[in-house]
Amino acid sequence: MGSSSAPVRRYHHVINGADHPSGAGSIARHAPDTGELVAEFASGDADTVERAVTAARTAFDEGPWPRMTGADRAAVLRALAASMERDRDHLARLDAEESGKPIRQALANVDASVALTQHAAALALSAHGDSHTNLGSDFTGLVTREPIGVAALITPWNFPLLLLAQKLPYALAAGCTVVVKPSELTASSTVEVARLAHEAGLPTGVLNVVLGAGSVGQALAESDAVDMVSFTGSTATGGKVIEASRHGAKKLSLELGGKAASIVFDDAEFEDALDGVLFAGVFNNGECCVAGARLLVQDTIADRFLEQLVARMEKLRVGATTSPATDIGPLIHAEHLQKVQSYVDGALAQGAKPLTGGAPLTGPGFDDGHFYPPTVLDAVTETHTVFQEEIFGPVITVTRFQDANEAVRLANGVRYGLGNSVWTKNIDTALTVARALRSGTVWINTTIDGAPQLPSGGVKESGYGREMGQAGFEEFTELKTVQIRSGRRTPFFSLGERP
Ligand code: NDP
Repeated sequence: MGSSSAPVRRYHHVINGADHPSGAGSIARHAPDTGELVAEFASGDADTVERAVTAARTAFDEGPWPRMTGADRAAVLRALAASMERDRDHLARLDAEESGKPIRQALANVDASVALTQHAAALALSAHGDSHTNLGSDFTGLVTREPIGVAALITPWNFPLLLLAQKLPYALAAGCTVVVKPSELTASSTVEVARLAHEAGLPTGVLNVVLGAGSVGQALAESDAVDMVSFTGSTATGGKVIEASRHGAKKLSLELGGKAASIVFDDAEFEDALDGVLFAGVFNNGECCVAGARLLVQDTIADRFLEQLVARMEKLRVGATTSPATDIGPLIHAEHLQKVQSYVDGALAQGAKPLTGGAPLTGPGFDDGHFYPPTVLDAVTETHTVFQEEIFGPVITVTRFQDANEAVRLANGVRYGLGNSVWTKNIDTALTVARALRSGTVWINTTIDGAPQLPSGGVKESGYGREMGQAGFEEFTELKTVQIRSGRRTPFFSLGERP
């Protein structure tokens, strides 16, 4: 990755279907594994945002996209999915190179993004409202489902393509026009998707991309011409988006942070639980909002489980994003590596016990990047900072519990509520715990799974609104009630002579 022979990519904003030059200089992206310059992105300013929003507004108010048939929109989305599939290797390479995710995982992200785009196409085709004929013979009610308007889509760096695909095709399927603001660290795949969408027949102005730092997202959230903001990122930034969008009372859909627990009971299928806990802890380098960052394990099996978990963690291969053998790539940037380390140091100071990992990797193959080893911290309690806050690295904390009540109390004892997994063969335990957990998703004997049909989102400080599934599509729509009287109207006032 980031080999010096590869040319540096240069990307502009995309406004009205054309490249638009930078408003305020450019942003350099260096590969997090080699440190080499791989991309330069335009940096937007208030004027760029204004132009992009105006393009999207005009395309919505006057253009063909919201007015064409669902079948025609579906055809464009299917063509987009086909080109993404064709360019699978290229898109995966961009995401791996910029985000640091291992190439195998980046390829899987492209496949999932294609499936989401195809699913959104099917929803575009089948979308409909409701009719009411039980209002008496004189009345008919129509509830039409209409696109909400101009949607601003703001995405983070950890799944650049996949998180775009959880929003964009659904917004387009609904008939919205959009302005996308990807992370300044990982913008390439978003611009490539915009290019592919135009090739697939998307009318100009429907999909605009403004590159740049957080101020671009802030300006989008503030814009009067934007009807909705769909944001994925940290809970702290989500708060700023809420503030910024207050003016004009925009609709918001917020996918924020998480602190998922993997809850392992002593009757779980041992090998499956081990595999699931390992996967949930380190998938995408642990830089994942639904990462199983907290292992809650029943005390009766804890020692045996941890011994085998650590043995597996130590076999994971940390390395360059390009290598198909790599399980864990570099963290996103040096400051983030330091943040992960400071969480680990803080945990040790608070009494946690390191079982493996715990310090950045150095030496040949590691010195130019931001590599952190898979790490397990035992004896973590609910008062420890690492139990409460997102670490966003390949670090699993371990807390033991005695029974289901204690497991649920621990799992729910954080401000987040995105996802949790439960590992048990007892159906009563599984369902009782699943129902008591306060999170948008609960996985039973699986983890970080999903399907385009299944909605995803959070409760508590993990946000609100849903992505994917029918619910994800409906986020980008508005209901309109049309009530029709067909018989003669009975006068409401008798209209007698005035005294
Ligand atoms: P941030 O919240 O920092 O950024 C998310 C996006 O918002 C980026 O495009 C960012 O731009 C932009 N942004 C920054 N400041 C503002 C602002 N004031 N107004 C509007 N937009 C702004 O998150 P990260 O990119 O650092 O991603 C990591 C975080 O995202 C983690 O905390 C993780 O939990 C969360 N996340 C949540 C997911 C979920 O589904 N709930 C999924 C993935 C991640 P820029 O990058 O240029 O600063």
